[in-house]
Amino acid sequence: MAWDFSTEPEFQAHLDWMREFVREEIWPMETLDLDLEQIERAMAPLQERVKERGLWAAHLDPELGGQGYGQVKLGLMHEVLGSSPYAPFAFGNQAPDSGNSEILALAGTPEQKERWLEPLLAGDLHSAFSMTEPENAGSDPTTLTTRAVRDGDDWVIDGHKWFSSNGSIADFLIVMAVSDPEARPHQRASMFIVPADTPGVNILRDVATMEHPQEEFGKYGGHAEIVYEDVGIPAANRLGAEGGGFLIAQRRLYPGRIHHCMRWLGVARRAFDMLCERATYRVSHGKELGRHQTIQNWIADSAAEMQAARLMTLHAAWKMDTEGVAGARKEISLIKFYGARVLGDVVDRALQAHGSLGYSTDLPLEAMYRYARAARFYDGPDEVHRQSVARQILRGYEPPPGNVPTEHVPTRQAAARVKFAELLETVTSND
Ligand SMILES: Cc1cc2nc3c(=O)[nH]c(=O)nc-3n(C[C@H](O)[C@H](O)[C@H](O)COP(=O)(O)OP(=O)(O)OC[C@H]3O[C@@H](n4cnc5c(N)ncnc54)[C@H](O)[C@@H]3O)c2cc1C
Repeated sequence: MAWDFSTEPEFQAHLDWMREFVREEIWPMETLDLDLEQIERAMAPLQERVKERGLWAAHLDPELGGQGYGQVKLGLMHEVLGSSPYAPFAFGNQAPDSGNSEILALAGTPEQKERWLEPLLAGDLHSAFSMTEPENAGSDPTTLTTRAVRDGDDWVIDGHKWFSSNGSIADFLIVMAVSDPEARPHQRASMFIVPADTPGVNILRDVATMEHPQEEFGKYGGHAEIVYEDVGIPAANRLGAEGGGFLIAQRRLYPGRIHHCMRWLGVARRAFDMLCERATYRVSHGKELGRHQTIQNWIADSAAEMQAARLMTLHAAWKMDTEGVAGARKEISLIKFYGARVLGDVVDRALQAHGSLGYSTDLPLEAMYRYARAARFYDGPDEVHRQSVARQILRGYEPPPGNVPTEHVPTRQAAARVKFAELLETVTSND
């Protein structure tokens, strides 16, 4: 009976160490407004400690300098790291570099790995993933219009992208572009490595967002709008097969969603702790908030929903580890929209319980609230994941004979009368 919720003691020791390390060394940093150079300086000694502990770049295989952890272990790790936006940086698995390093590991040639992956892993380069376009639905990437045209030994890229996270500080961008418009929809696009200093890469701005309302160019975590204008790159910069862009994207995004969901649980847990703490001391209408039934309901509902989301996410991770992407597709879509909702609801309750203090920037809850909102559409909006789940579930169903519902009581009763005729006969004759 292989059904085990325990964590190996050695790995639990790592998780305990991480939790303490993140809380003591990284949470205090959040209160300072650091620029990239300051973040990197503050991180350097912490990254050394993570490397000494053998926890650096845990998402990659050992031959690439990582730990080769499966998705369950990575998930547990991300739950701890998710509690602070800076923590993944200290562990060499911050987005989007971690996902991009996975792409390079999956699809890169030995030369591409040496040129881009190794320095990315060492923290010497920054990267961005440039797929979404303002003019087309990111939810349906078969509508992409950025073009890559072969020109002798080069590819020439033209197009308009936005929300390329870290695009304005990136040394290179992985760009998804249509390389064959005549191919079948999911074979039209390819991925290309574009050095950020290539002529024609015009980084217009970092789009101000709900999370970062003040436009600040060149900051870690910004979302760049970019026009690619006659950008010539060597043919050797194509990643993977021509037309293989969707396949690579899928292999990157599926595990990435598990990591997102576990990071969200790290944030939700922090908000939940604030909710519970508030419940112990804030007095209203003659008693602490925690003695009012509504607040008790919020605490109980939040605990139940976080537990459900956590088990669902670890189950999806286990499916990935045991059956790969194809086997875990439905479970990953389930957690993507459910996990995002749980995050939003828990943060909202914690904020509400703090009243104006929760709404103020004196607590991190308002920032968490703004962060949580985006979770409902990046890496696929709720609606698309629900649609995907429902479609997969419906494949297991078909119309009943004569469109009479399988559970239709009169029909079942008639069938049961035939099946149990002898029994009914006996009962009748005993009367
Ligand atoms: C914080 C953040 C970081 C991001 N980072 C990156 C990045 O690094 N690189 C990158 O390329 N992109 C990035 N994105 C973009 C993100 O991937 C897209 O926003 C996302 O794919 C949705 O695309 P869209 O914004 O074009 O929305 P649209 O596709 O226009 O969708 C808008 C809405 O339409 C509805 N909808 C769409 N399809 C359906 C459907 N089938 N059924 C019902 N309703 C539907 C949904 O409500 C959806 O929210 C980021 C976005 C955010 C917010």
